[in-house]
Amino acid sequence: MKNNDSSILYEVHNGLYVNLTNRCPCACVFCLRNTTDRVGRSDSLWLDAEPTAEDVERLFAERDISKYEEIVFCGFGEPTERLDALLEIAAFLKAHYDKPIRLNTNGLGDLVNGRPIAPLLAGKVDVVSISLNTPSEARYMKEVRPCFGAGSYGALLRFAEECTKCVPKVVLTTVATTLTKEEEEACALIARSMGAMYRIRPFE
Ligand code: SF4
Repeated sequence: MKNNDSSILYEVHNGLYVNLTNRCPCACVFCLRNTTDRVGRSDSLWLDAEPTAEDVERLFAERDISKYEEIVFCGFGEPTERLDALLEIAAFLKAHYDKPIRLNTNGLGDLVNGRPIAPLLAGKVDVVSISLNTPSEARYMKEVRPCFGAGSYGALLRFAEECTKCVPKVVLTTVATTLTKEEEEACALIARSMGAMYRIRPFE
């Protein structure tokens, strides 16, 4: 493994973040990867090679985890592209540390893996945060540009709803300043209708 360790585990505020992959089925026009190489206290989130679950677990074992408020699967790619590793690492974390585990995802993990994945997250992930981005499917297709094409927005919504049955907390997110008040209210309604929370993330 040639990766710098901070490419794999990196700190953002009081959380410890896990960067498993640079693969993503989307090509968001606003993707941070288009404008920067790093987030938080990382040198670069571009990976020379995807770390194995064992690589990641070793890096956790070398750290003092007690100082972090949460552990977050989120990086320069879609974590559910590495579903097996994600589940293995999450089980390891649950067995060794008493920290909340969050998955930040674009919500297309069912399409990535060709099967419903929400039930697999039960007992391993405490919070699923899903980038809804917009209440409009047409705008979603234009700005997120998922490789799966039509049906992607519906798949995101189905995944989110399934997560509310399997995971303690599900949050749909949009980014501040990108939507009108009416659009934000529409997103809040979508979240409420499925028993999820709605959060407007700060613009970065
Ligand atoms: S889903 Fe995330 S990682 Fe993928 S292109 Fe969009 S912003 Fe970038």
